[in-house]
Amino acid sequence: MTESATEIARCSFCGKPNPAVRRLVAGPGVYICDACVTLAASVVDAGPTASAGPSTPVWASLSDEEMLGHIPRVASHIDQAEADLRAWVQELRRRGVTWARIGESLGVTRQSAWERFSGEE
Ligand SMILES: [Zn+2]
Repeated sequence: MTESATEIARCSFCGKPNPAVRRLVAGPGVYICDACVTLAASVVDAGPTASAGPSTPVWASLSDEEMLGHIPRVASHIDQAEADLRAWVQELRRRGVTWARIGESLGVTRQSAWERFSGEE
């Protein structure tokens, strides 16, 4: 991947845009940068005691201010995932896939799929 000034996506974990990281790996509506992959690998390598278990909410140790500082990042992930989903649906439509099949795949009606995504055509 070459450096580019154009921001296409941001890491879903640290929020850095693709021009600011060495590599950005895409998942379904999410992205992770090379630095966050390294950090996650070190957490995994440290074993099960290094991370909070699923019974402990991530905000348990955060102050109100820290939580308020974090929620814009959570909201930005929703926007990014929505934009990614729209791009996938737009490509399916470009390929001639029907609204009925797209709706079926998403577990909604043809009408609901069209109402949600047709503005992109
Ligand atoms: Zn990151």
